[in-house]
Amino acid sequence: MMDGRYILVSVHDVTPFYERQTRRIIDELEHRKMKYSILIIPKLNDRFNTSKEYNILDYPQFIRFLKKSCGELILHGLDHADAKYIDDPRQVEQRIKIAIKIFREAFNKKPRGYTPPRWVTNKEQNNILKKYFDYTEGFYGIRLFNKRFIFGFPLGMESMMDNEHFKKDKITPALIKYLSLIYSKIHYGNVIRLTIHAREVDIDGLEHSLSLLDNYLKNGWTPITYSELNKKI
Ligand SMILES: [Zn+2]
Repeated sequence: MMDGRYILVSVHDVTPFYERQTRRIIDELEHRKMKYSILIIPKLNDRFNTSKEYNILDYPQFIRFLKKSCGELILHGLDHADAKYIDDPRQVEQRIKIAIKIFREAFNKKPRGYTPPRWVTNKEQNNILKKYFDYTEGFYGIRLFNKRFIFGFPLGMESMMDNEHFKKDKITPALIKYLSLIYSKIHYGNVIRLTIHAREVDIDGLEHSLSLLDNYLKNGWTPITYSELNKKI
C-alpha cells in the first residue's frame, strides 16, 4: 500500500524539434527542485508538420542538457506516428526495438517506461511493452506491469484544446476537458497525472500548467517519477 498524495509531472513530446520549448519547461521544473519525467521521441518524422526528420542522436548538446536534468527519461514512441501501426504487432515490436536502440545510444541506459503517443494503446501492444518495460500509461491511467493499474486522467491539457493536433484526435477535446475538470475536483485516488506538452510554451499554456502544478505543491502533493511510483507500490 502507498501512503501520501503524489503528483506525477510528465513533459511530453521531447524532441530536438521542440528543443527551445523543452528547455523552457525543464528550467521551470528544475527551478522548483522537484521530481518529474521526460518523454523522449527518439526520431520524430513529419508528425508536427515538418518534412525533416529529427533524430535525437544528431543533437548532442540537447542530449547533454536532458542528461543533466533531474527528470526521469522514458520513451514516447519512435517517431510519434506510432498509433498508425497499432494493428500490426510485428511492426509495433520492431519500432519499439528501434526506439530503445536510439534511446540507449543517446542516454547510455535502458528506458524503464513507455508512454504511447496520444496514449493510444491496446491489449496486444501492452503485451509487447511488458517484455521491454516496467510500466506504460494510457488515457485512463498508469499501468505498472505485474503490479496494478492506477486510474486517473491526465490533467493540464486544457490550454491545448483548440490546437489543430487535438482536433484530429479520436478522443474529443471536449471530453478530455470535461473529464479532467471532474477528476481535478474529486482527486480520485492518491496519484495526480499532470502533463506539460512542449507546444504549450508557444500558445501560452505553460503558465496554466505551472499554476496547476504550484497549486498542488502548495497543497502538499509530493512530486514523483514513474519509476519511484513503481517502487512504492
Ligand atoms: Zn506526444
